[in-house]
Amino acid sequence: MNQAANMATKGEPSQPQAVRFDLEKVRSDFPTLNQKVSGHDLVYLDNGASTQKPQQVIDTIKAYYENDNSNVHRGIHTLSQRATDKFEAARVTVQSFINAESDAQIIFTNGTTESINLVAHSYARAFLQAGDEIIISTMEHHSNIVPWQLLEQQIGIKLVVAPIDKNGNFLLDEYTKLLSEKTKFVSITQLSNALGTITPIKAIIEAAHNVGAKVMVDGAQAIAHTEVDVQALDCDFYAFSGHKIFSPTGIGVLYGKRELLDAMPPYQSGGDMIKVVSFSGTTFNELPHKFEAGTPNIAGVIGLAAGLDYVSDIGIANIAAYEKELLDYGTHRLSEIEGLSMIGSADNKASILSFQINGVHASDLGTLLDHQGIAIRVGHHCAMPVMEFFGVDATARASLAFYNSKEDIDALVAAINKAVMMLK
Ligand code: PLP
Repeated sequence: MNQAANMATKGEPSQPQAVRFDLEKVRSDFPTLNQKVSGHDLVYLDNGASTQKPQQVIDTIKAYYENDNSNVHRGIHTLSQRATDKFEAARVTVQSFINAESDAQIIFTNGTTESINLVAHSYARAFLQAGDEIIISTMEHHSNIVPWQLLEQQIGIKLVVAPIDKNGNFLLDEYTKLLSEKTKFVSITQLSNALGTITPIKAIIEAAHNVGAKVMVDGAQAIAHTEVDVQALDCDFYAFSGHKIFSPTGIGVLYGKRELLDAMPPYQSGGDMIKVVSFSGTTFNELPHKFEAGTPNIAGVIGLAAGLDYVSDIGIANIAAYEKELLDYGTHRLSEIEGLSMIGSADNKASILSFQINGVHASDLGTLLDHQGIAIRVGHHCAMPVMEFFGVDATARASLAFYNSKEDIDALVAAINKAVMMLK
């Protein structure tokens, strides 16, 4: 990055600047960003799918395997105790990152998808019955649709879909009208991966609680872009994935209110989640272990804590403010491209630029951008119903992280212009 851009991000006197971190330094922390693709400097704009990992996370995982590798919770020996200490310390890091009441309410899963499935299979199967309603929204990711659809088939609950408007705004009034004494559960994204909409999640939760429904928040996208305080939100469950927040794949989190987690039956069963097993009966372990059957992803958990520490050091408020500036810049620059229409321009938006260009198929565009070293995502983004709502089968999506710069956006725009000339 040139000096001018770096200065711009650090603060110009004429306008308030959001960035209070050293962008150059941050970029140098992410080794994958420093490479050429198809002979061009890589511009990575697929953060909504998965984020890159800072050296600090990579080093933490390496150090664990080099020094402490062992199984957790069961060992009397030093390595096992060290692994256990780091594993449980990571739980406290997660607890503090989302401001959970206690570390016992942090359940490690393999990702958002598993966290949602855990709640669907354990909570909903145990406490919902035929005729009860679950509300989701038009813009949910498939992992927050299909688990509830399966319950519809298996136990006869009814899935109700809260609408959005043509800009991708969540329609709070319409949603509120759908709530009734039949509503027993609401599961809504905090930030849409397909549109970038930030939903009014606190109001959604409050309204659901007014009719006695429990609420699950899909925080897969929100976790890396907004401050998350589960106590302030008063959500009943919160799910996110490590790989969307600069941490390893294969690790995720489910937060739940204690009384709900206590009342829920185990999800998977086997080692670690039991207290006593005999052929006449088995008793289950305390929280959080009741929901963590088998050997967990120890390196993933320790790596997740390193990723969250990295984000905390920069400050999520700094990240959000900087990304807002980038998003505004990107929205403006993309609007200059002839024939480009933005899919999703909600009033409250973060990190996602999802668009279509007249006469250009998204996958052709994605391929030509890759030839210019630019990584974006094309397709339905695992959100086919919202694609259908907008009458498209695919969009091109540039999704931002705090290591992206205005120059990345300039490179994207130049590459799109070049690709469009080739395709038209
Ligand atoms: N929910 C949203 C909003 C997402 O964007 C994603 C992933 O893209 C998921 C859920 C599923 O996350 P994972 O594949 O990490 O389980």
